Amino acid sequence: MARIPGLQVIRSKVAGYGVITTRKRKKGSVITNVEGVIWYAKEKRDDRHSLILEPGIFFDMVDQTRYLNHSCEPNVVVEAGVTKNGNGWAQLQALRDLKPGEELFFDYALPPELKERCYCRTRSCRGWIVEKR
Ligand SMILES: [Zn+2]
Repeated sequence: MARIPGLQVIRSKVAGYGVITTRKRKKGSVITNVEGVIWYAKEKRDDRHSLILEPGIFFDMVDQTRYLNHSCEPNVVVEAGVTKNGNGWAQLQALRDLKPGEELFFDYALPPELKERCYCRTRSCRGWIVEKR
């Protein structure tokens, strides 16, 4: 796995490992494209580090972005989808200006049957990592 320039995996203050930016980032800028592998619900794979691209279509993040933590007050967003050729893609973008050393968080959400407690401790914490209804 090649290291993504400007990102570093660290021991997070929130949970487990996390990812920091080692560079300044401008609001709206693309931090990186995400390397991932597409798979389908019927394959019953480990989905802990997977994005849901479309119902039943997952994208397992296989680079440093795999270690991104969730926050209810995110500072990055992951845009993702499926191309018309059936390939998955995902891209990490800054939601605000970021300073070197800041941990990156995105507001991923799990289906209700897989929801987990959230420990982000932000003012707007919803208590659970779960999709909005
Ligand atoms: Zn939270």
